[in-house]
Amino acid sequence: MPVSAASSADGSSAPDPGASFPAYVVRRHDDTVRSGVEDLTLTDLPGDGVLVAVRWSSVNYKDGMVGVPGNRVARISPLVPGVDLAGVVVASDDPLLTPGTEVLAHGEDLGVSRHGGFAAYARVPAGQAIPLPPGLSLRDAMVIGTAGFTAALSVDQLEQRGLRPGGGPVLVTGASGGVGSFAVDLLAGRGYEVVASTGKGAEHAWLRELGASEVVGRDALDEAEGRVLGPERWAGAVDCVGGDTLAKVLRTLAYGAAVAASGLTGGTDVGTTVYPFITRGVALLGVDSVRTPLERRRAVWGRLAEDLRPAHLEQLVAGEVALDAVGGALADILAARVRGRLLVRSGG
Ligand code: NDP
Repeated sequence: MPVSAASSADGSSAPDPGASFPAYVVRRHDDTVRSGVEDLTLTDLPGDGVLVAVRWSSVNYKDGMVGVPGNRVARISPLVPGVDLAGVVVASDDPLLTPGTEVLAHGEDLGVSRHGGFAAYARVPAGQAIPLPPGLSLRDAMVIGTAGFTAALSVDQLEQRGLRPGGGPVLVTGASGGVGSFAVDLLAGRGYEVVASTGKGAEHAWLRELGASEVVGRDALDEAEGRVLGPERWAGAVDCVGGDTLAKVLRTLAYGAAVAASGLTGGTDVGTTVYPFITRGVALLGVDSVRTPLERRRAVWGRLAEDLRPAHLEQLVAGEVALDAVGGALADILAARVRGRLLVRSGG
């Protein structure tokens, strides 16, 4: 099928194949990593997929890991990171994604083994490009991005297992980060009593503004230390920290409750016994945004535009950076210095 290309005056037309466009590129050389803005052409992008003029991407923890020497996240070199993007289709052979369609994409191999969102153009497999849900702008979609989607998926999974507002407090760990802050906002918006756990003393007031009814320091989760079970405190939990934090959450879930676990900022090893599972019937729900089937992705994005629409979208924005400032932003997210979500203006 012939490729059709848009020609519009708003900058969404496909560029000349030889014309250059800016991209933030990570290059691995043995044990070292070199990163910066370079000029690419369309021939540098994968040959298949829908060509998207990228307007916005965002900074996720995984993007930070791509630049760490020895990491096992980046699968190709050179690599344009950016695990999510939102933009306008400018060339497509898919009849459902005609030029001019606003789309978002995230997960699968994007920004890992296929060039991602930190560039003015990207080619995305047609099966991965989601038309923008009504009511969300391209910028809204990347304020939400992978982190907000993961938070929504976590809430969705907990509710599928029976969590309902009024059932007791729901804990959110890593609450000031991207996944955590969205989880606080989404849960509070649905009427849950949210307890936010954070390592950042300065962000307690902000987390209350997002809807947390109580904010506790990371250390406050230590009450069951040394014991196999602690007090039954949580009707549910969203954990994006992993490690010891997840073990502490498991020890303190109420009978029959579940934790939706998505992250590893606090470590990958989880020291738990079987007691929370076999004496309290609790569940550990794994949350994976990367390989979520397309239909489920669309459904969760649909919820994000409707009943799970974030109530504090602008308060969740930490800032906007241009491609030449992405390096500093990646260092900040790895050092847990980011509150909420950092946007990348990929399209200039
Ligand atoms: P952020 O960096 O925005 O947030 C992570 C938060 O974790 C920090 O802000 C901090 O929150 C907390 N934290 C950081 N270091 C530690 C530590 N040593 N001990 C305890 N808490 C810590 O990252 P994201 O929100 O983008 O991602 C969060 C996690 O979720 C990452 O591990 C990421 O890889 C994972 N993830 C997984 C997805 C999936 O599909 N499974 C999708 C998206 C993200 P505070 O200071 O408030 O405690």
